[in-house]
Amino acid sequence: MRRRKWLVLLDKVFVWNDPSLIWNMTADFIGRWILTNEGLEEGCLVLAGDEVVDVRMGRAPLESTKSLIVPCFVNAHTHLGDAFAYPSPKGTVEEIVGPPDGYKHRRLREADRDIKVRAMRESARLMLSTGSSVFADFREEGVEGVGMILEAMTGSLLNPIILSRPLNIDAGDVELREMLSRCDGFGMSSIRDIPYDLLERASRLARASGKIFALHSSETVRDDIDRVLDLKPRFLIHMTSALESDLVRCSEARVPIVVCPRSNEFFDMDPRIPILLRHGVEVALGTDNAMIAPPDMLFELQAAYRLSRRRGGISPELAIRLATYSGRKVLNAESITTEISYDDDLAVIDVTGDEPLTEVATAAGSATISAISLGGRLRRP
Ligand SMILES: [Zn+2]
Repeated sequence: MRRRKWLVLLDKVFVWNDPSLIWNMTADFIGRWILTNEGLEEGCLVLAGDEVVDVRMGRAPLESTKSLIVPCFVNAHTHLGDAFAYPSPKGTVEEIVGPPDGYKHRRLREADRDIKVRAMRESARLMLSTGSSVFADFREEGVEGVGMILEAMTGSLLNPIILSRPLNIDAGDVELREMLSRCDGFGMSSIRDIPYDLLERASRLARASGKIFALHSSETVRDDIDRVLDLKPRFLIHMTSALESDLVRCSEARVPIVVCPRSNEFFDMDPRIPILLRHGVEVALGTDNAMIAPPDMLFELQAAYRLSRRRGGISPELAIRLATYSGRKVLNAESITTEISYDDDLAVIDVTGDEPLTEVATAAGSATISAISLGGRLRRP
């Protein structure tokens, strides 16, 4: 970081002494618009080689690329473990992903470890190349499952938040503590699938060690909101079958909800994003099971935008914010507080028209993500 600041300083010195040198150093500009925490603004990134040395607000130089700069996407809910089983057959939630014997769980038990790890590694590559820098994975298969995803992430530039779950419903506190020592918390199935006592203990132990406790809730059948919130989850997944009064309760308790529009679409359900937002719920997006939808957040935010229309709609900007700023807030991932800085994790999305937010929320394909910058270092997929 020090080195980059020095480069900026050098750049200013050169401006005074020899304009031809500054041309050489900062000939590269990327972007025409930046989605800041305040909204869309004109601006660009200033490059020295592969390093982002400055963020310049205001009209970009003519030679700058026609791109939108956004914070890297945060994928707030994945199950990368079932990526090897893509594409999933059609069926109900219970038939396809319901524990303990749904299609996904049978496939997980049967598949070779190597095949699972390889597919997770591929998914991680896809996430990075499609602009995500942080993801929260709900990893099945107990301690061994955590080991598999850690192996898959070796050498990856992604920042994984790994939430595990015990293999057996009779797991004791010793086993739960052991699991917590290897990951970032627990990501559980719903209160209908798991003995409540186990959920209570998992929540208590996770919170006592400053880790995350999160769970699925009210996906196809409404769960008792009192029992869900009594577990003090950091966030909930789905809530597609919750009552609106349940959403109000979540909003009041400041429990965010992560929705997964493409997964919902697969199961003929509706994420109801405008309704969640109307009740003041903090909403983030996740791609859910990799065997159902590859973990590409650009597609996910486009699905969020598209499916929201039937409920009154959300703006293109909001769809992008759900995938960027909101995800950071929900996961307490590294925050971009006031203004974009040169060393934030940023994605560069090339656009063709003059309405970049609409284009990204509706039409852009993953190939338009021409670069990402992690910690000030630019990388092209
Ligand atoms: Zn899930």
